[in-house]
Amino acid sequence: HLAVAGHPSFRESSVGGKVPLGLRRRALRVLVTGGAGFVGSHLVDRLVERGDSVIVVDNFFTGRKGNVAHHLQNPRFEVIRHDVVEPILLEVDQIYHLACPASPVHYKYNPIKTIKTNVVGTLNMLGLAKRIGARFLLTSTSEVYGDPLQHPQVETYWGNVNPIGVRSCYDEGKRTAETLTMDYHRGANLEVRIARIFNTYGPRMCIDDGRVVSNFVAQALRKEPLTVYGDGKQTRSFQYVSDLVEGLMKLMEGEHIGPFNLGNPGEFTMLELAKVVQDTIDPEARIEFRPNTADDPHKRKPDISRAKELLGWEPKVPLHEGLPLMVADFRKRIFGDQEESTE
Ligand code: NAD
Ligand code: UDP
Ligand code: UDP
Repeated sequence: HLAVAGHPSFRESSVGGKVPLGLRRRALRVLVTGGAGFVGSHLVDRLVERGDSVIVVDNFFTGRKGNVAHHLQNPRFEVIRHDVVEPILLEVDQIYHLACPASPVHYKYNPIKTIKTNVVGTLNMLGLAKRIGARFLLTSTSEVYGDPLQHPQVETYWGNVNPIGVRSCYDEGKRTAETLTMDYHRGANLEVRIARIFNTYGPRMCIDDGRVVSNFVAQALRKEPLTVYGDGKQTRSFQYVSDLVEGLMKLMEGEHIGPFNLGNPGEFTMLELAKVVQDTIDPEARIEFRPNTADDPHKRKPDISRAKELLGWEPKVPLHEGLPLMVADFRKRIFGDQEESTE
């Protein structure tokens, strides 16, 4: 992707590594499906910033125009309301395929739609990539490991997934999406990349999406009790969104297919997370226990050795630094310009 001109001194590339100075990288045309969502909109910011032309395809199920509104005046940016379950014709160099609801509450809302999005939607985007010769990156998930019997999870682990459970529209859907991606690679010579993303948080998450970080933060700000499901001893590892975006771009630009775990190995029980939220927002916030949901994985923590070694990537933002950035955004969206309630 390099257009030649210039002398052999070097500058830092925006996606890591060195590129010869004056060897300007040709601006790419990049499609981001699900680009109006939480992760997608942060990725779009970085792609636009480095000079690429970006097309977002999104059906706005869980995404919002507001997440990309700041680019609408940019002639190199375009957003198309479209459902990836339907075919589409576009001409781009790279496809980041994110379209799919990510919060358990959202993906269980219409499970048949979720599995269609993962299977038919991914098939369409692979067909598109094949027709135009674009590089294709799938955002898969740590949920492909199910309720893991190996800890931490390594990419070579095949997982422990209930194929008929309430989460399977998502986790089996993503497993099939990975299969399709590898079959297009092997069968149609498509250039593909697979990321397995672990729990990610940050500004622009849907406030009421039911995920644990968004729930706890919104609850603490609204002076409501933090709802801990089950005994609160289950674990997750929380990654700040800028670290994920960096990893996705390094994966796309690099030479390795993956799958790569992209996550922060810092592991917390839900009770420990509640404590961090209390420390950050309100030490008086109460905790309330609720019954847990079905098939909830007991623990989750990425082994990121492969991404460290082959992508030169590792997360930089620990929870106690990332959480306040998300809290500032939630505070603004929940209270607007009004004074925060003191009741
Ligand atoms: P999100 O719900 O904020 O974003 C998903 C976007 O896809 C939304 O804008 C939504 O409107 C759009 N979308 C959904 N179905 C669509 C369809 N059929 N056609 C077109 N657009 C559609 O979720 P997110 O957290 O930004 O997740 C982005 C991707 O990363 C998803 O594929 C998700 O599975 C994956 N992922 C996220 C996490 C996480 O913790 N955030 C973890 C693992 C994997
Ligand atoms: N597809 C698409 N846009 C394209 C090319 C293909 O949406 O530019 C869809 C197409 O409608 C099909 C899917 O991608 O449903 C898979 O395409 P492929 O060519 O691999 O398979 P085929 O059409 O031969 O079944
Ligand atoms: N959880 C919780 N309180 C909440 C929401 C979720 O204790 O208000 C728990 C949930 O049971 C799970 C963990 O937090 O064990 C992570 O849930 P989330 O929905 O954020 O993502 P998951 O990793 O399950 O996809």
